[in-house]
Amino acid sequence: MKIAVLAGDGIGPEIMAEALKVLHKLDLRFEMESALVGGAAYAATGHPLPEGTLKLAQSADAVLFGAVGDWKYDTLERALRPEQAILGLRKHMGLFANFRPAICYPQLTHASSLKPELVAGLDILIIRELTGDISFGQPRGRRSAPDGHFPGAEEAFDTMRYSRPEIERIAHVAFQAARKRGGRLTSVDKANVLETFQFWRDVVTAVHAQYPDVKLDHLYVDNAAMQLVKAPKSFDVIVTGNMFGDILSDEAAMLTGSIGMLPSASLNASNQGLYEPSHGSAPDIAGKGVANPLATILSAAMMLRYSLNQPEAAARIEAAVQAVLESGLRTGDIHSEGCRQVGTREMGDAVAAELAAQG
Ligand code: NAD
Repeated sequence: MKIAVLAGDGIGPEIMAEALKVLHKLDLRFEMESALVGGAAYAATGHPLPEGTLKLAQSADAVLFGAVGDWKYDTLERALRPEQAILGLRKHMGLFANFRPAICYPQLTHASSLKPELVAGLDILIIRELTGDISFGQPRGRRSAPDGHFPGAEEAFDTMRYSRPEIERIAHVAFQAARKRGGRLTSVDKANVLETFQFWRDVVTAVHAQYPDVKLDHLYVDNAAMQLVKAPKSFDVIVTGNMFGDILSDEAAMLTGSIGMLPSASLNASNQGLYEPSHGSAPDIAGKGVANPLATILSAAMMLRYSLNQPEAAARIEAAVQAVLESGLRTGDIHSEGCRQVGTREMGDAVAAELAAQG
């Protein structure tokens, strides 16, 4: 089990250290290799995704990723910004399926901006297609200035496009995921207005014939956005395109009220995956030892489940996180009255100790 460890920038190295600590408590043997990525890689080599880092990622069974980005790189030309490393990894590794679970842990229901009864027990999975749609359609790259702006231009446009194989493969991934969960899949589109998404609906419906045990329904994206805040527990698995998925998965994340808790996975056709917390590099708290490492620890659990075929180890980590929350430990982002506030390292230590206690 070869893991490429890319900690990145900001709080990335701090939260990664805790995830590795937890992985090392399992009775499993990993081959781990670290490399620079994002702003750290740019500072050292002049590129956010150096050739060596990409090769390492491609040769590994899974990539465990911290976060990239820092405001000090915001004036760089777009191609050299830290965030380009993620786009490069997605593209070169063919990571087309993005899994974003939104789980509201019973101990954290009060952290949501919705009423507790609407989110208590929430456990939904958003699967976002990651390599097609308007972000990758033609024409791209016609910017008239190297920094990505358009001095003097009168218009700009992007083209929305999906091919049948692109929709089919994400639909298969989604039906299979729904089959392993509650057996319900909601496909989100805009078939009433966009040709691309009428096509999406037709193709998903055709793929459904191979999964008669899964209940499929279709929802327009505007309605899906409403239902997510009105009755989020009515969903099981949602599948949607790149752009709608980007927006809906962040909306769903905030239902749980705690961005520091949410893991994510991006998978390719051979189950090789990149696993990262849903949050960014949080430069405002970097180096202070206060970041919540649980999203990264839970990303490591997803890695064990989806790319390394170790579902039991994944479940052990998830149970350990629940137990630590139950014991009342909280980092600042999820802190509430009556709980004990701890730092990044103490939280990682507590999860590791819980794993050891489980035996
Ligand atoms: P962010 O997610 O980094 O931070 C948003 C807010 O959430 C901040 O107040 C931060 O302190 C807090 N936060 C985030 N993670 C936390 C954690 N684990 N524990 C406690 N608090 C946490 O988003 P941002 O501020 O918009 O972006 C900061 C940088 O991160 C930017 O350069 C952005 O481009 C980059 N970014 C990277 C990724 C990625 O690496 N995948 C994703 C999003 C943003």
